Amino acid sequence: MESWSDVRVLVTGGSQGIGLGIAHAFARAGARVAIAGRNEARLAAAQAELDGIGAPVDTFICDVADPGQCASLADQVERQLGGLDVLCANAGIYPDAAIGDLSAELVEEVLATNLKGTIFSVQAFLGQLKASGRGRIIVTSSITGPVTGFPGFSVYAATKAGQLGFVRTAAVELAASGITVNAILPGSIRTEGLAALGQEVLDQMKQVIPAGRLGELSDIGHAAIYLASAGASFVTGQSLVVDGGQTLPEIPGT
Ligand code: NAP
Repeated sequence: MESWSDVRVLVTGGSQGIGLGIAHAFARAGARVAIAGRNEARLAAAQAELDGIGAPVDTFICDVADPGQCASLADQVERQLGGLDVLCANAGIYPDAAIGDLSAELVEEVLATNLKGTIFSVQAFLGQLKASGRGRIIVTSSITGPVTGFPGFSVYAATKAGQLGFVRTAAVELAASGITVNAILPGSIRTEGLAALGQEVLDQMKQVIPAGRLGELSDIGHAAIYLASAGASFVTGQSLVVDGGQTLPEIPGT
């Protein structure tokens, strides 16, 4: 069994949903975990939840769309955790808007959070990940964009596909520094954000998943643990689809 006690992990967007699930997985494994998000109350609630499983976590306020806040986050993490070994760049938003209804502001917000936010967070933590000697970058992408299309989510899909271009290039650029860079592509995972799309959408999603259920937070947490593990040190630039088989059937529903 691998020991995680010396491993420092930061999850952006770790205050709810998939990010909190990833934080749970690392906390249960015994890692030193920190989470970041914009809303203080949400961070405090997540901290209390993680405290409940006996895993004290550090919380940091940060909007990943702002490179200055990412740089300040990195400074705070260095002071409090002494550095970073695993960066889970997970913060993301997925507002529903048809192409004809997209405002320039909405396009910018989604690009800034999902795509630029990934880049800014990686950039801010590069020094600490290099110093770690076993640096890991795990980006939460999606099946939407890289694999599938979803009406109403064109900009979101573009950001999620764009993340993979960044992941592959960063993997090559950072390999000599001992850093691996990989993406997890979740299918439909039961989160607060997904629930906001409405029960009808959730029911439709479940119907096309061969596994017969929506994904749980722990499904993504386990994938992140694998990519961060010592055993995955030769895996880089890859995309791990975690979707219960959703993207496989040639005829949906079969
Ligand atoms: P969620 O429940 O809405 O949670 C999003 C998290 O990101 C929250 O902690 C939120 O906290 C944080 N966040 C949002 N914007 C931020 C910003 N600008 N800076 C820092 N933190 C920010 O979403 P989710 O469903 O867990 O999705 C998380 C990630 O998984 C996203 O990248 C999403 O694209 C991806 N994903 C989700 C699914 C799914 O089925 N749920 C499927 C594929 C991919 P604050 O609002 O307080 O900042």
